[in-house]
Amino acid sequence: MKKTLQKIGFSFLATILLVSFAAAQTQTFVVKNATIVDGSGRPAFRGDVRIKDETIVRIGRIEAKKGETVIDAGGKILAPGFIDIHNHSQEGLIEEGAAANQVSQGITTILVGPDGDSPFPLNDYFAKLQGKIAPNVGAFIGHATLREQVMNDDFKRQTTAAELAKMLALEEQAFKEGAFGLSSGLEYDVGFSASTEELIALSKVAARYKGIYMTHMRDEEEGMLDALREAIRIGKEAGLPVQISHIKMGNRNVWGKSADAIALIETERKNGFDVTADVYPYTAWASTITVLVPSRKHEDRQEVEKALFNVGGADKVLITSCAAHRDYQGQTLQQIADAEKTSPVDVYIKIVRDGGAGVVCNSMNEDDVKNFYRQPWTMVSSDGGIGSRHPRGTGTFTKVLSRFVRENNWFPLEEAVRKMAAFPAQRLGLKDRGMIKKGMKADLVLFDKDKVIDRATFSAPQTLSEGIEIVWVNGRKVWENGKTAGNLPGAILRKKS
Ligand SMILES: [Zn+2]
Repeated sequence: MKKTLQKIGFSFLATILLVSFAAAQTQTFVVKNATIVDGSGRPAFRGDVRIKDETIVRIGRIEAKKGETVIDAGGKILAPGFIDIHNHSQEGLIEEGAAANQVSQGITTILVGPDGDSPFPLNDYFAKLQGKIAPNVGAFIGHATLREQVMNDDFKRQTTAAELAKMLALEEQAFKEGAFGLSSGLEYDVGFSASTEELIALSKVAARYKGIYMTHMRDEEEGMLDALREAIRIGKEAGLPVQISHIKMGNRNVWGKSADAIALIETERKNGFDVTADVYPYTAWASTITVLVPSRKHEDRQEVEKALFNVGGADKVLITSCAAHRDYQGQTLQQIADAEKTSPVDVYIKIVRDGGAGVVCNSMNEDDVKNFYRQPWTMVSSDGGIGSRHPRGTGTFTKVLSRFVRENNWFPLEEAVRKMAAFPAQRLGLKDRGMIKKGMKADLVLFDKDKVIDRATFSAPQTLSEGIEIVWVNGRKVWENGKTAGNLPGAILRKKS
C-alpha cells in the first residue's frame, strides 16, 4: 500500500516538474530584414523584430542569438495583424477554429456579434472556443439578441418597461463577461421595432462599461442621413462613442451623396463627438431579401417594384440561398423571372411568402465607397466571415491592399494598415494589439505588397487570397505556405472596463 502511494507520489511530482519545465522554456525568434509598417500610420522602415513567447520584445537592428530561429523577411512587409471589428464568424469559429479564410487575409483578431446578433451568454460561447481557435476573438452584445431573450417571437412591437428592465439586466451580464460594446441591426426584423429611447437606455449600460455603440443603421438608403442622426443622438444621450457599421449609400436614390454623410460626421467630430465608421470594400451588399423593401409591405406590388428600381433593377439582385427554392441559388431575380415567364415582382413576392432568401445586391457606387475609405475616421471591416457567401468574407483585407492601395492608390499602405490594425484596436480599447511596438502581443502579418491579392468572387466566394505569407497570433504561426499551420493560439479577448 505504502509503496503504491510512493509510486503515485513520485510520478505526480515528476509530472509537475516536467510541466513547469515546459512552461519555463521560452521561445524566441527574430524576423530579419522586414519592411515594418507598424500600424501607427508613420512611414515604413527597414528593421528586425524579436518575439519572445507571445510578445514583441525588440524592434531595430537585431543580431540573432546562437540557436535562435531567424526568419528572413527579404524586405517584405511586416505589419500588425488585422483586426476585424465586424465579423460574422460566430458559428464558423466553432466549426472551424483554424479559420483558414480569415487568417489567409491577415486577420488575427475577430469581433463577433455585430448587427444586433450575438452569442448569449458570452461566457458559454467563449468556453466553446477556448484553446480551439487560431485568431483571437472578442464579442459585442447584440440588441436583437437581448430582445429575443426577453420577447421571444413577439418582437414586432416596442418593449414594455418590465421587458426593458430584463434586457438591461442581461446586457449587464454580457458586459461583466467582457463585451466590447452594444451592437444593433435596426434594418432587420427584430431590431426594427425598437424605439430610439430603448437603444439609449441600453447604450447607457454600455457606457458604464466603457463600451461603444456599434450600429447597422435603420436605413442605408433614402433615410440614411436621418438614421445617421439617430445613431449620433443615441451616442450623445447615452454618453458613449458611436461606430457606424459598413457605412454606405445603399441605393440609386442616394448614390453620390456620401459627401453629405461625411459632412454630417465631420461636423460632429469637430464638435468633439466621437463617431467613426467601418467600410467593406465592395459595391454589393449581402443580406436577407426582405431588407429590399424597407416599408415591410412585401406583398405590395408597387412597393416591390419601387424597391427593385431603387437598387438598379432586378438584374442587380442575386439569390445566394433559398431554402424553399434551392434551384434559385446563383440566379438573379431577373433570370428567375425570365425562366418562369413571370415578373421579378412576382418572384420576389413568392420567395418572401415561402420563407425568404439570402441575396447579394449590387447597388452601390464605387465613388461613394472611395469617399468613405479616404476619411481618416473610417476603418476596414469585412462584414463577412467563415463560410460567407459574399467574397468579402474571404477577400476584404487583401482586396483593400491590392485594388485600393496598390492599383488605385486611394491611400498609402501605411494608412491602410492603420485602418486595419491600430485604429480598430484603439476603437475597441485593445491596448496591447494593433501595432508593432515593444510590449505588444505578437499578432503579425508578413506579406508581399506587390503580390498580395484577393481571389474571392461572387461565384467563388471561398477562394483564398494570395500573397499573405506568414501570419502569427500571440507569437505562433497560424498561416504559412498557403495553408493553416496547425496551431490554435487565439485568445479570448474581454473588454477591461
Ligand atoms: Zn450589417
